[in-house]
Amino acid sequence: MTDNTQYLENQIDELKEQGLFNNIRVIDSPMDAHVVIDGRKLINLCANNYLGLANHPRLKEAAKKAIDEYGIGPGAVRTIAGTLSLHEKLEERLAQFKGAESVVTLQSGFTANLATVPAVVGRGDVIFSDELNHASIIDACRLSRAQVVRYNHNDPADLRRAIAETTEYNRRLIVTDGVFSMDGDIAPLPALVEIAQEHGILLMVDDAHGEGVLGRGGRGIVDHFDLHGQVDIEIGTMSKAFGVVGGIVAGKQPIIDWIKQRGRPFLFSSAMTVPDVAACLEAVDMLENSDELVQKLWSNGKFFQTELQKLGFDTGDSATPIVPVMLGEAEVAQAFSKELFKEGVFAMAIGFPTVPKGKARIRVMNSAVHSTNDLEEALSIFETVGKRLNLI
Ligand SMILES: *Cc1c(COP(=O)(O)O)cnc(C)c1O
Repeated sequence: MTDNTQYLENQIDELKEQGLFNNIRVIDSPMDAHVVIDGRKLINLCANNYLGLANHPRLKEAAKKAIDEYGIGPGAVRTIAGTLSLHEKLEERLAQFKGAESVVTLQSGFTANLATVPAVVGRGDVIFSDELNHASIIDACRLSRAQVVRYNHNDPADLRRAIAETTEYNRRLIVTDGVFSMDGDIAPLPALVEIAQEHGILLMVDDAHGEGVLGRGGRGIVDHFDLHGQVDIEIGTMSKAFGVVGGIVAGKQPIIDWIKQRGRPFLFSSAMTVPDVAACLEAVDMLENSDELVQKLWSNGKFFQTELQKLGFDTGDSATPIVPVMLGEAEVAQAFSKELFKEGVFAMAIGFPTVPKGKARIRVMNSAVHSTNDLEEALSIFETVGKRLNLI
């Protein structure tokens, strides 16, 4: 008898030999400043839970109340079973919050990209895509069947070159991450807007790591650069700073209307669940009423980055609360992460192919939930491990 999954086992063994197999840690506590793993409490520097909303009492309360009123599940896709008033309310509130004409929510940021790109461009069209764009953008571009032309990372001059060299097209789209999550750098959106307007090209930014982080009170990258009305499509997620789960497409009314007609994850996959929507509504409420959490996030990020630099670590070029600690070879970053774990810090090593060879790192995700004490404790552990491994 042939074993038709043997080839997968072989591939898994290969990953293990190369040290590239993902061992997924099991967390026995809420996602918060600390997490419990294997019965030990560790300082959590891994989560995208920027504002600490994943375990916030107000979001939990809102979710519970909504369950009592509306139940749990949406029942079917929105075009078939109708849409809950809660979803509409969240979309209106998000549009207001972000200063966008209209918003549609999806199940996740990933599906927001999959719903959007193939809906707005197709065969015969061209997409100009930053070479470091997120996997969900890459997949969305492939699904669209449009030609994809990559341009050098955050390089408007190279984008201009790519546009000039591409003469065969029907419609055109420029797409970029807002914040690049491995380095924490920000897309040069004003320059991209200028180029898009000059050539009459649609412009789309995926602001997954900027939602709740950049802009006034976390209103995102478009607000950060004060480019309201000038970016055609803004993708967002509620799984990072919002601490819940869910995708956002914000933009001009016809784009949102069209995604509700032709976006396949909108048409063929059910909507966000009731507790998710209610928790996200509460998050919007909190952000509209106070920028305290966003301020705390940024001051924590700055503090951690500055102190790591003082200790002699290379923290790259981050312009956001994401702090990469550049360590070079993947083995070094792996060893560093293991030592941190032993000492009480949960921070992941990131290596090839997520980042280029020789640019392995520990990525520190700062959050508004960490106290100064937590950060000082983590820094002292970074110092201990850095010295132990002869890196500082
Ligand atoms: C995380 C991320 C996503 C996926 O968001 P989910 O809501 O987790 O599916 C999409 N795009 C970018 C740029 C991201 O960083």
